[in-house]
Amino acid sequence: MRELICPRCHLCGQRHRWWAHRSDGIICPRCHLTERLTELLDDGTGRIAPALLPLHEAYTAQPNPDAGLVWLYCNRHVPPLLTALATGHLPLSHEALDDHPSSQTAMHLRDLLMQYGVLEQRDRYLVHFENWLRQFLAGNTAAEDRQLIQQFATWHSLHKLRHRAEHKGLTPGVTARHRLEVAFAQRFLAWLREHDTALVDCTQAHMDLWITSGNTSRQCSRAFIVWARANGILARHLQLPYPKKQPREALTHRDRLQLLHELLAPQRSRLLRDRAAAILLVLFAQPLTRIATLSMDDINLTSSEVQITFGQHGPVPVPEPFGQVLREHAENRGPYNIAANRTSPWLFPGRCPGRHIHPVHLRNCLRDSGIPLVRSRITALRALVSEMPPAIAAQAVGYTARCVEEHANTIGMSWVNYVPARRGSGELTTS
Ligand SMILES: [Zn+2]
Repeated sequence: MRELICPRCHLCGQRHRWWAHRSDGIICPRCHLTERLTELLDDGTGRIAPALLPLHEAYTAQPNPDAGLVWLYCNRHVPPLLTALATGHLPLSHEALDDHPSSQTAMHLRDLLMQYGVLEQRDRYLVHFENWLRQFLAGNTAAEDRQLIQQFATWHSLHKLRHRAEHKGLTPGVTARHRLEVAFAQRFLAWLREHDTALVDCTQAHMDLWITSGNTSRQCSRAFIVWARANGILARHLQLPYPKKQPREALTHRDRLQLLHELLAPQRSRLLRDRAAAILLVLFAQPLTRIATLSMDDINLTSSEVQITFGQHGPVPVPEPFGQVLREHAENRGPYNIAANRTSPWLFPGRCPGRHIHPVHLRNCLRDSGIPLVRSRITALRALVSEMPPAIAAQAVGYTARCVEEHANTIGMSWVNYVPARRGSGELTTS
């Protein structure tokens, strides 16, 4: 096939798709991207809006101009949004983006604008929660409950989320929990109304019936009930019953070995990324919320032995051949066609610029590829406490000592019987 030569930058090649016919010839995707973005960011006087120059500069320099063009041409919300910001019809602010009808488009653009220093940094999960809350209150809530739920969301959820966003940043898991708490406050109030009872007339019998007549997710109403009690809206003596704890099932030793064996072999049905994440789950009992947020600073690839740090304690070695899988993933972590991910500080980069993978997305991918998530983690934790004292296991994998001690008790291990058990069983290995 004849190679194309761009008349503007003299680039030759067939690698990219988005070559475009112009009066001066067929232009390359990068010149095409520059031309299109320059058009969209015109402030009405024939020049790029000065405030948006950093976006123009960084966006047109991305390694894959095709991906940039897909966003500009295939998302119908993008061109009018960029033009409105460039011409000043929409103020260049977080608030203006909050109200945009396509929240996904606005969120992606917000990420880009924050990354390139056009907008000040704001925790995207907090923004997401605030947007969700506005829609939730407008859509699902009975008019008579709206004010109370608004107060609960403001003084409980938003107060906690803002504090955390300022000090250590939010995670999707934290905002998801607060969304559930607000949603269950609304359901609890609706349920009371179905039982012809106002919140102030609620009795212990209502509490017991609310918990026993539904599934365990009704426990999510606890935050609202505690808040209402503390603020004198609900009688102080009322208690929400706790669920009975069911012991959770672990994998058999054989199933765990089989799973670890599968994770070593390249397979068509499982991405290298998913195998690497699953190894951290099955070997080190790491929750997916922590795996998703591991940074490249947490993994040491410089020595022959791969080491990884969970929580605040020192690094732990990853036994071979599992270390090799992690090394291979870390060195080839996916670009996902987004410029920023090529140098991503995250071990598992996400699709949004500069973000790590969303733990829910990672969970869905692993579950779809056949990893029993909860059982694998419980089995891993129990295997760890059978190999080392719970306090040391807890430090190594970033768990609280109490949580690890509970698992040790479940399998009949504790500090006291650790040494005799170890002598009796010979050397234990991670696999
Ligand atoms: Zn060109």
